[in-house]
Amino acid sequence: MSSSSSSSSHYLDVVPHCDCRPPLPAKERVSWKPSNPGRRFLNCPMSLISDDHCEFFNWIDPPVTEHYRKTLNQLRAMANGQPLRMQRRLTRAEDQLHVAITQ
Ligand SMILES: [Zn+2]
Repeated sequence: MSSSSSSSSHYLDVVPHCDCRPPLPAKERVSWKPSNPGRRFLNCPMSLISDDHCEFFNWIDPPVTEHYRKTLNQLRAMANGQPLRMQRRLTRAEDQLHVAITQ
């Protein structure tokens, strides 16, 4: 009986293995490079642990669109504390304005 189930094959159905010997289950990671913010990929589980690892690399997500790249990079910058610097700049500008008004 050949029943074809219509479930789309997901990448987690079969965990890809890297090119090490013996092959290891590839590790899911998230890129935060400005060119690919938030884009998931698989690579060698040893890549962050040891210099002795293979070059296995596979994107999970499709390429990030220009819009998402800009938005995510802005959010990333905000998460890294840029609003605080902007807040201080705003406060300084308000102080200067206050000085200008009261003079
Ligand atoms: Zn490997």
